[in-house]
Amino acid sequence: MDLTIHRARLENTDQTINVGIAGGKIVALQADDLAPGQSTIEANGAMLSPAFIDPHFHLENALLNDAVNASGTLREAINIYADIKRNMPREDIVARATRALRMAVANGTLWMRNNVDIDQIAKVRLLDVICEARDKFAGVIDVQVVAFPQLGLARNSEAVDYMWQAMARGATVVGGMPHGERDMDDAARHIEIAFEIAKAYDADIDMHVDETDDPYWHSLELLADKTIEMGYQGRVTAGHCCAMAAWDDALAARVIEKVRRAEVNVCTNAPVNLLLQGRGDRQPMRRGIARVRELLEAGVNVTCGQDDMMNMFYPFGRMDMLEVANFVAHAAHLSSPAQIQAAFDMPRYSAARALRLPNYGLSIGAAANLVLIPADSPMDAVARHPIRPYVIRQGRVLVHNQVQTNYSSQVPN
Ligand SMILES: [Zn+2]
Repeated sequence: MDLTIHRARLENTDQTINVGIAGGKIVALQADDLAPGQSTIEANGAMLSPAFIDPHFHLENALLNDAVNASGTLREAINIYADIKRNMPREDIVARATRALRMAVANGTLWMRNNVDIDQIAKVRLLDVICEARDKFAGVIDVQVVAFPQLGLARNSEAVDYMWQAMARGATVVGGMPHGERDMDDAARHIEIAFEIAKAYDADIDMHVDETDDPYWHSLELLADKTIEMGYQGRVTAGHCCAMAAWDDALAARVIEKVRRAEVNVCTNAPVNLLLQGRGDRQPMRRGIARVRELLEAGVNVTCGQDDMMNMFYPFGRMDMLEVANFVAHAAHLSSPAQIQAAFDMPRYSAARALRLPNYGLSIGAAANLVLIPADSPMDAVARHPIRPYVIRQGRVLVHNQVQTNYSSQVPN
């Protein structure tokens, strides 16, 4: 065997297991002893998990810390960014994307779905640069590129042209932002155009949906209806879904039922939504969080994304999907063991389902894309999001993190 991992903990059991990896795949997963492979890892009881997935991010504007968003609103962030994105040098974008991707990998993230602005300002230039960054990291982290028309489609034929070009040049997922249109009729047209493009390329769809506090916007319903009409069940993801927090319960129940039937995945970007939404409110303030518990109870596949890091949209972020899961648990009131398990699964099994990753998980024959988490339980992992000692991609160690805490004798134990 190429690599063996000894004395890892299997999630939600007290069982210690040994893992054998050959040819990039898991070939042994057993409680019995395993002869050491060419390389060995001593897990010391750390939890073995399939690696993490960040299903919603923006590499091109990560780490633009200098741009100050005085109002803290999404609108101002988009305006600041519209100015900057004309002139971002190629090397600068690749360098920042590289830093962000290295941070993600160090925290055990080996898949990312990344949104690239496609519009009359960016044209397809940002896309070409992000495809370059994606290719640079091939074999390390898989980056799916979403063509994201942030400045609308319904009345913007130029952007529509660029969307078609983007798909021809290397984007693999069709994005959208229907609530950025003038009204719900235009939002319907926006969704229609996105499906037209997706159908032509047999591509999945992943949109920014209702990222607003305004309950007028319920384009999630249009998206679910269209998904069923086009036979796209399971292939559509709705990011953000903030307006859900402002809807009345009857509208929410109606739309959640449609989302369930359409098998639309919902990706909450809780850390970013908590900062950007509710800015126009006096107390009580809306927090702009998708109705995660209701969605989970209805059987909808819910995942979560980092979305932004250290920029005009969001000044924080560490590219740590366990930290994002922790935020989701706080924002969406997830506190029972089952709910915390759901949060833990969001950047893992739920995201794998949204991205339709084949062979994800811990089983014989699965690709050995693994992370060790020194935690006793899912609750412990989400609570402490500890440094992950090993990140493994197809049987090769990509990252070895070390941390050592030395207490002096003055600290009682
Ligand atoms: Zn986004």
